[in-house]
Amino acid sequence: MALSKAVIPYTIQDEQVTAQHFLICCTEDCENSCQFYCNPCYKPMCEECRDKHQKTPETKYHEVVPYRDRRQKLPVEKCKDHPSKDIDIICENCQVPLCSKCAIRNHRGHKLDDLETVYSDRFTIFVNKICDIHQYLLPISQNMQKDIKEDTKEIKEIMDKIRTSIKIEAEYLKQLTDMVMTDNLEQVKKIEQSLIKELQRQDKNYENYNSYLEDLIKDIHGYLSFDKVTDNPIIFSLSEHLKTKPIPETKKPVYPVFTAGQNSKDDVANLFGRITAPNTK
Ligand SMILES: [Zn+2]
Ligand SMILES: [Zn+2]
Ligand SMILES: [Zn+2]
Ligand SMILES: [Zn+2]
Repeated sequence: MALSKAVIPYTIQDEQVTAQHFLICCTEDCENSCQFYCNPCYKPMCEECRDKHQKTPETKYHEVVPYRDRRQKLPVEKCKDHPSKDIDIICENCQVPLCSKCAIRNHRGHKLDDLETVYSDRFTIFVNKICDIHQYLLPISQNMQKDIKEDTKEIKEIMDKIRTSIKIEAEYLKQLTDMVMTDNLEQVKKIEQSLIKELQRQDKNYENYNSYLEDLIKDIHGYLSFDKVTDNPIIFSLSEHLKTKPIPETKKPVYPVFTAGQNSKDDVANLFGRITAPNTK
């Protein structure tokens, strides 16, 4: 029966289907796609059925419009004071919905309007609002959210690169420290060698002098056991035989000192490089 297809609840999908002209004509046994809508009958119809509808005497003056401009069906509600009457009028002065009997009895001279027309107009505004959200606001918001996800990913990659750079810089500073340490140890070695060499030279001097003294003692012992008077060294040339070479002078080495650099953590930080970030607040 045609009636079973007559009332089609409104959905956004419905609107999209309309755009593609896939909605089927409501006339019984007609399978054409519908492009029109009879407002008083609340029926979608094809071009052929519309022409027929407008030629039939009893439906001749029905308002048939393109499907997208159709009027929305007002929800049916009976008047409490006149239960046989639908509430289908609005009094613009009092801003209340009315049935025809209430309108005649209580709102004479007021500006009355067809409630279904008002309802349908407002309905369209809300539908357009949904379309606006779907076509404009939601895609933009979703894209922005996508951008934020991509930014988050990029920030993580950038921070990983910075972490790597920090480790490389630290490794480089450690290598420089090792090089400076090696240079210093080399310098210590050279100083040590030079000081030892000087001490060895002095040691040799004293060794020579000690032998000289031992020889001198032997000579003097020889003098003391001399058993003649002639040419006796004790008697003759005494001053010559008592002559002794002076003790070689000692040169006390100057001990090297290591003065540690007064470096703080901040000094190292200054050598290191800096992370700069824009102030996000
Ligand atoms: Zn009709
Ligand atoms: Zn048809
Ligand atoms: Zn009433
Ligand atoms: Zn009124």
